[in-house]
Amino acid sequence: MNLKIGFAGLGIMGRPMSGNLVKAGFPVTVWNRTQSKTHCLADAGADVANSPKELAERSDVIITIVTDSPEVKQVVLGEGGVIEGARANSVVIDMSTISPAATREIAEDLALKGIHMLDAPVSGGDKGAIEGTLSIMVGGPKADFDRCLPIFQAMGKNIIHMGDEHGMGQATKACNQVIGILNILAVGEGLMLAHKSGLDLNRMLQAVGAGAAGSWMVNNLGPKMAAHDFEPGFIIRLQQKDLNIVLETAKDLNLPMPGTSLAHQLLRSVEAEGLGEKGTSAFIRALEKLADCSLV
Ligand code: NAP
Repeated sequence: MNLKIGFAGLGIMGRPMSGNLVKAGFPVTVWNRTQSKTHCLADAGADVANSPKELAERSDVIITIVTDSPEVKQVVLGEGGVIEGARANSVVIDMSTISPAATREIAEDLALKGIHMLDAPVSGGDKGAIEGTLSIMVGGPKADFDRCLPIFQAMGKNIIHMGDEHGMGQATKACNQVIGILNILAVGEGLMLAHKSGLDLNRMLQAVGAGAAGSWMVNNLGPKMAAHDFEPGFIIRLQQKDLNIVLETAKDLNLPMPGTSLAHQLLRSVEAEGLGEKGTSAFIRALEKLADCSLV
């Protein structure tokens, strides 16, 4: 019999992800702080709960995808939260991007009531969420991962169990964010050099994109940066949230991260320009301001 799923958080990511679970035939109940966002899921066949507690009472597996650690704690552990309604042996899967340390704290509190937890952050953006092709990096006991694998398969393609310890998925997502942001910085500097050298920017990206320096960022964000197309995608405010998680985690581990720190500061200058709600392609503005020139 299909596991009954409760899904909390119907934002840019949660809406299509829960929709894919309904399409896959799971019995799904949804909850969202702003209730109007549940209408489209109700139309698609989901039930609607009035609180995270009620959601958990009706579910075997409760998925959360909200903003950051304090919001996950509020939905899971707060008054009227998941912990008040979930049964022993049910599983909470947090798919938000939050800190590994907060994940471990939440898992410990849930364990006191016999509730299991997996951390399963995602990569692939709204496009991956809509198409059901997300990369999902999962931390927590393997037995729980195996039990929930069909659920992950309805939302993603590259699904990897990172280890039995809680927080291993979030640690992997932090690595993802480091590699991604430094790649964006590299593409930006390459574009600035191309501009100053009088090159055609898109032809440079085309030449580089198929070689050893090619990457998803070169091929997808490069043309957007060159054209000043700052429509999200992934917004700078959330990128900064994730870099804060990375830098806090690195501090706990006594690990210097000079490149990530630099990228974080450069993005702050883009936020100071009022572009925090724009996509990460707007990173190019930081480099343009330093060089006092514009690519367009
Ligand atoms: P979003 O569109 O801003 O949605 C945020 C969701 O969290 C909404 O459902 C919002 O409810 C809910 N929420 C916020 N604060 C809350 C609170 N205090 N209590 C209850 N619910 C609260 O964000 P998103 O883009 O879907 O991102 C969600 C998570 O996925 C984040 O951790 C993000 O870093 C991660 N992620 C995003 C992307 C991406 O491309 N967008 C990619 C990978 C991972 P309301 O509707 O009431 O505001």
